[in-house]
Amino acid sequence: MIKDTKILIIDDEAVIRDGCTKILTKEGWEAESVEDGLKGIERIKSKDFDLVLLDLMMPGLNGLEVINEVNKISSDIYIIVITGFATVETAVEAMKRGAYDYIPKPFTPDQLRVVVRKALENMALRKETEFLRKEQEKGLFAIAQEKSKIKTIVNCMPDGVLVIDKEKKIALYNPAASKLLNIRDKDSIGKLLDESIICTEFSDMVSEVLNLDSNKYTTIAGEILGVDSIPIIAHIAPVIMEDGEVLGAVTIIKDISEQKAIDKMKSDFISKVTHELKAPVATINQLLMAILDGAVGELEEKQRQMIDRAKLRGDGLLELISDLLNISKIESGLAIQRKQPLQISEVIDDVVDLLQPQADEKKISISISSIDNLPLINADKEGIREIFTNLISNGIKYTNVNGVIQIDGEINNEYIIISVSDNGIGISELDQLYIFQRFFRVKNSTTRQIIGTGLGLPIVKEIIDAHLGSINVESEPGKGSKFQVQLPRINN
Ligand code: ADP
Repeated sequence: MIKDTKILIIDDEAVIRDGCTKILTKEGWEAESVEDGLKGIERIKSKDFDLVLLDLMMPGLNGLEVINEVNKISSDIYIIVITGFATVETAVEAMKRGAYDYIPKPFTPDQLRVVVRKALENMALRKETEFLRKEQEKGLFAIAQEKSKIKTIVNCMPDGVLVIDKEKKIALYNPAASKLLNIRDKDSIGKLLDESIICTEFSDMVSEVLNLDSNKYTTIAGEILGVDSIPIIAHIAPVIMEDGEVLGAVTIIKDISEQKAIDKMKSDFISKVTHELKAPVATINQLLMAILDGAVGELEEKQRQMIDRAKLRGDGLLELISDLLNISKIESGLAIQRKQPLQISEVIDDVVDLLQPQADEKKISISISSIDNLPLINADKEGIREIFTNLISNGIKYTNVNGVIQIDGEINNEYIIISVSDNGIGISELDQLYIFQRFFRVKNSTTRQIIGTGLGLPIVKEIIDAHLGSINVESEPGKGSKFQVQLPRINN
C-alpha cells in the first residue's frame, strides 16, 4: 500500500471529523480535517492529498461542487463521499463525477477502514500499472532510439554496408553501398539483389556465402569493379544463428582506387629502381666470374674465397631484382597477357632439364609421372614456367643431399592438379600460414644458410590466381612438403 498516505476529511460535523481523524491516524495514515468545501479546496491546493473523505451535504459549497474543483486540481486524488441520506442517486451522481466510492452515514470505524483501505489498494495498483506503463514506454523509446542510432551510424559509414537475406533480397544498405554498387532504385529494400545491381561477380560471391555449410564459417573477400569501373574490395560474411541456420549475408564494400593508385606508384618505382640495378649488378657478376675463371691471372686461395663470396651475394641480389621485377610485372597486369592452349608437361620437362644441374649438385633425384597426357590448359607459358621453376627449385633448396623430388599430375573434374613433393626439411603448420606472403622466410638454423628472397611463393600464388587456379601446401617438419597446383583445364 502507498506509504505516507495523506487523507483530508471535509465534513461540517465536528464529530465525524474528529472520529474519522482518530480512526485513520490509528491506522498509520496522516489525516486532517476541515469543516467546509472552500477550506477543503484551499488545503488540497496547498498539500498533496491522496484521498479525500467528502461529506455531500454541507452548507456553502456542496459535495458535488467540491468534486468538480478537486478534479480540476488533480485527477489522481481519490474521493470517497459520505452520504447523509444514503440515497443511491446522490452516490451515483458523485461517482459519475469521479468519486471512487461512498460510505453511508452512520458508519462504524470498521466500515470506514474497509472503504478507505479498498481505495488505497486500488490507488496502489493504479500507480504500479502507471509505473510499469512508463517503464515499458521508456524501454520502447530506448529501443527506438537505439535503432535510429544504429541507422545513423551505418548511414554515416564511409564504407558500403549491404545486408542480404537468405532469399538474396536486400535487407539493408547505406548510401555508400548504393553509390559504389550503383543500386538503381531509390528504395531497394526487399528487392532481389540481381534486380538492383548489375555485378555478376558480386552476386556469385553472395550466393557462395549463402550456400555455405554453416559449420564452415567463412568470409569471402574479392575484388570487383563497381560503378564507373571503380575497383572495390568486398568482404562478405554469413549471418549465422545460434542453431547454425544461415540467415543471410553481410557485406562491407570499400573503394580501393586510391590504394590501387598508390600500389601502382610503388610498383612502378620498384620496377624502375630494380631495372636500373639489374644491368650494373649483372655486369659486376660477370666481371667477378671472369676473375674467377682466371681472366686476370691465377688467384690465391684467399682471393678466390673472397671473390666467390662476392659472386654469391651478387647472385642473391640478382635473384631479388628478378623477383621484384616479376612481382611488379604481375601487379601491373603485364605478366599474364598471352594465354594460349598449353600442354603443361612441355613446360615442366623444360624446367626440370634446366634445374637438373642444381639437383645433381645435391644428388637429389627428380622423377616425373602422369603428366604427359593431361588435358590442355589455357595459360601463359612464361607464367607457368615461373610457377614450376620456383616450386621445383624450392624443392631442391629445402631438401637435404640425396633427397627425392616427385612431380605428379592428375585430373580433378574441371581442373588439372600438379603436385611437387619433396622429402626435405618441411614447414611447420604455423609457418605454412605465412609462406605465400611477400618477403616471408622461415627462420631457423636449417634455413639460415639458404639464400632466398621470400618472393618466390607470392609470385607463384599471384600467377596461379591470374589463371583462376589455386595452390595449397601439405607439409611436416623433417618429413617433407607437397605443393599442389590446381589449374582450370580447357573444356572440349
Ligand atoms: P625463398 O626465396 O625464401 O625460397 P619463397 O617465397 O619461395 O622464398 O618461400 C618462402 C619460404 O617458404 C622459404 O623461405 C622457405 O622457408 C619455405 N619453403 C618454400 N618451399 C619449401 C619447401 N619445398 N620445403 C621447405 N620449406 C619451403
